[in-house]
Amino acid sequence: MNEQRIYIVRTGEVALKGMNKPFFEKKLVERIRTAVKPLEEGLGDGGRIDVRRHEGLIYIRTPQALNAQDLIRTVSRVFGVSSISPAVECESDLDKIGDTAVAFMKEQIAERGVRTFKVEAKRADKTFPVKSPEIARIIGAKVLIGCKVLKVDVHEPDVKLFVDLRRDGTFLYDSKISGTGGLPLGTNGKGLALFSGGIDSPVATWMMAKRGMVMEAVHFHSYPYTSERAQEKVERLCGIVASYCGRIRVHIINLLPIQEQIVMHCPEEETTILVRRFMMRIAERIAEQNGCQMLVTGENLGQVASQTSDALVVTDASVNLPVMRPLIGMDKVDIMEKAREIGTYETSIEPYEDCCTVFLPKHPVTRPKLDRILRSESKLDVDELIEKAVASEEVKDIGPGM
Ligand code: ATP
Ligand code: MG
Repeated sequence: MNEQRIYIVRTGEVALKGMNKPFFEKKLVERIRTAVKPLEEGLGDGGRIDVRRHEGLIYIRTPQALNAQDLIRTVSRVFGVSSISPAVECESDLDKIGDTAVAFMKEQIAERGVRTFKVEAKRADKTFPVKSPEIARIIGAKVLIGCKVLKVDVHEPDVKLFVDLRRDGTFLYDSKISGTGGLPLGTNGKGLALFSGGIDSPVATWMMAKRGMVMEAVHFHSYPYTSERAQEKVERLCGIVASYCGRIRVHIINLLPIQEQIVMHCPEEETTILVRRFMMRIAERIAEQNGCQMLVTGENLGQVASQTSDALVVTDASVNLPVMRPLIGMDKVDIMEKAREIGTYETSIEPYEDCCTVFLPKHPVTRPKLDRILRSESKLDVDELIEKAVASEEVKDIGPGM
């Protein structure tokens, strides 16, 4: 048995990049290296995980001691990975490939009771003198001789054995485990997500990160109306998103002084929209201070009063930075489905209060008009309120699973 395990990682959309492909591939390798670092540390002295790219694929080599499931789970979460296959490797020589295929299939018989198989071969090395269908036939015949219990089934085989023949070696594998897809983090600028403890904003943050955008987050609370437990829940949610994209910096702001001013001086039904405009302006300031090019929210057309088309227009008018709303056209059930898939749902539905639920108006305006909202805001010292809020920010770096 080989003393190393090897995995082949496919890059999906990155492979479609033309001239920029090396840039994307290098970033992806970097991201995979970062993601597997904790596993490598767990191996102790001398245990190394080797990640390198070669001819459009990424190869990961680990000591046998590293649990395959742990590695696969970690790598398949890295944005830009389309699939991963645990593989065995041998020289590109038909006899060697045959022996390796027989050993591989014997393991499948012992572990999974496999009885039928089919070989598919691909010859990336076109100088190799035997063509792909012929390679498949030769290796299939060797397997039949070496494993007497096996039969060929070209339609529904228990195992489809892939033979990927390359100049510097041949890789055999039978499964492709899907990755998260997307683009490597760090290939698409930096954004600031308005991150609540709800269902939507963690999904929105994840979706932008999945397209390669490094994300920071801003969270607003109304302590002591909102509790420390609510705060802790938000941090756990960030930790789940961070398990895909690495560390997330969270800017934490107490919105209560602003909410109190709004409640005191402005019409009750405008509270929500006014609060939202303050959130956006504070977020814009934080974005500018931290090199974030755009704001990201979990807003979704028509979901609540503050997300009608009129409300979104009035919200947008408070800032100059572009506001990305990756969930805008999704149905709530689809957002919930996505939240389940990425693992944030169960945490999001824990029942803690959010700052938006404090001072919730009975009948919020659903069709706010900008001139009326501006009139209401003229009763407040907007700049000073924002200044103070930003000055009181607390910053936390949240890593995976924290
Ligand atoms: P979510 O599930 O993300 O909380 P929601 O459906 O509850 O969204 P709203 O409460 O109207 O909708 O919030 C809309 C968006 O405003 C959120 O998706 C988020 O981007 C931002 N937001 C709301 N509350 C907060 C908060 N406390 N801190 C930071 N951002 C917030
Ligand atoms: Mg909410």
